[in-house]
Amino acid sequence: MPTACIFCKILSGEAPATIIYRDERVTAFRDIHPIASTHILVISNRHIASANELEPGDEELVGHMVLLAKKLAAQEGVAERGYRLMINTGVHGGQTVPHLHLHLIAGKLARFLMG
Ligand code: AMP
Ligand code: ZN
Repeated sequence: MPTACIFCKILSGEAPATIIYRDERVTAFRDIHPIASTHILVISNRHIASANELEPGDEELVGHMVLLAKKLAAQEGVAERGYRLMINTGVHGGQTVPHLHLHLIAGKLARFLMG
């Protein structure tokens, strides 16, 4: 685990976060700078730098992240109206934190994201 990784620090408890779900594979917490009324990050508990570093065998992990996002969308009351799931990857993908994460974004501002 790279000590400089902010999401690893959240996982270890070194950095604060509003954690809303945790199991042995993934953790979900609220984005510190939400761009819509619901903005949650689902991250892998294992440090994976980006989608580029996913390997055969990670299918279950990625599927679990998506299914958890679906469940959290229902919990947040946004499932029916809809939401976006995004995995930004690399510089051109807009990735700023090099630890795999899935954005769950819903609410009024979500429609302006595609720019
Ligand atoms: P990305 O740009 O796709 O890499 O997304 C990184 C996201 O992490 C951004 O939406 C940030 O607002 C969010 N973020 C960065 N640091 C923290 C933190 N300490 N706690 C919660 N969210 C964070
Ligand atoms: Zn990390």
